[in-house]
Amino acid sequence: MHCPFCAHPETKVIDSRLVADGEQIRRRRECISCGERFTTFETAELVMPRIIKTDGTREPFNEDKLRSGIQRALEKRPVSVEDIEAALTRIKQQLRAAGEREIPSRMLGECVMSELRQLDQVAYVRFASVYRSFQDLDEFRAEIERISTPLKSAAVADGTGEEG
Ligand SMILES: [Zn+2]
Repeated sequence: MHCPFCAHPETKVIDSRLVADGEQIRRRRECISCGERFTTFETAELVMPRIIKTDGTREPFNEDKLRSGIQRALEKRPVSVEDIEAALTRIKQQLRAAGEREIPSRMLGECVMSELRQLDQVAYVRFASVYRSFQDLDEFRAEIERISTPLKSAAVADGTGEEG
């Protein structure tokens, strides 16, 4: 590719490694003309299923929206950007593995929750409280009680817990 700094047509790869569980190649490049260095990420382009919202309307899968939702849940939590990207990659793999052209938004929500649960329990509770409060409160409470049993179950279960 052309150098983004001087538009010279030739750059050389000085480092190359797999990232995001092998789903991406990160390449460090150097312009042979101006010597500036930059990074490219290479990913196979695969079609994602469309999302069926609870009101029945369809929308395209939106990775940026998903990422910002996860980042919001992980705000001020000790989780690295690489771990978030790896979680996003696994979520996309699961959605593709379903083999459907359209999938319910609920299924996407479940994927996100199972990833957050492994990344960070506080983030999981934050996300789950927002995600589930509008559709299945009993299930949410049961889940919170289940995961927080060894911890401060009373504080979390009545909704006065981790938020703040
Ligand atoms: Zn250049």
